[in-house]
Amino acid sequence: MGHTHTVRVSDPGMSFSAAHFVITSDGLEPLHGHNYAVSVEITSQLCHDGMVVDFRHVKRIVRSICGELDHRILLAERSQAMKIRVSDSEVQVHYQNRHYVFPRSDCVLLPIEATTAELLAQYIADRMKHAIQEASGCPAGEYLVCVGETPQCQGCAHTSWFAQQEAQRSGRAPMTTTSK
Ligand SMILES: [Zn+2]
Repeated sequence: MGHTHTVRVSDPGMSFSAAHFVITSDGLEPLHGHNYAVSVEITSQLCHDGMVVDFRHVKRIVRSICGELDHRILLAERSQAMKIRVSDSEVQVHYQNRHYVFPRSDCVLLPIEATTAELLAQYIADRMKHAIQEASGCPAGEYLVCVGETPQCQGCAHTSWFAQQEAQRSGRAPMTTTSK
């Protein structure tokens, strides 16, 4: 295997302002907001034109995902402890003796267990991978996506699609179990 290279992208447009709450050891936080900032590192072998991926593709795709989250209430639909009920017009959230009702259009339901920065980063990384591959025509690599609640506090997700691509090529799932 030859050299690998890394691109790092952060951009004022790769940001969103949103409300959330997380269940901590102290219970459910009050509903509150952050001005989130997203940064991305992609490591891979060079594709064409001596690039890992064109910075413009990364910025456009991440800005688009951020736009979906901007000025919304972020809810983790896979939360074990919060009960979330969704109708056409409303989202109800129940946690112990606290009950919220939000307009459906104000909410984004995310397929994660909690709206921590780490899991928001994982969601963004998962959303990016196909879009980047389609836009660039280059193979996937290793992604490091970080979501900052403040400049000093970021949660990141590391994801490698090298192993997954190998598994897909050989027609096997990335994790296999053997039986005797
Ligand atoms: Zn928060």
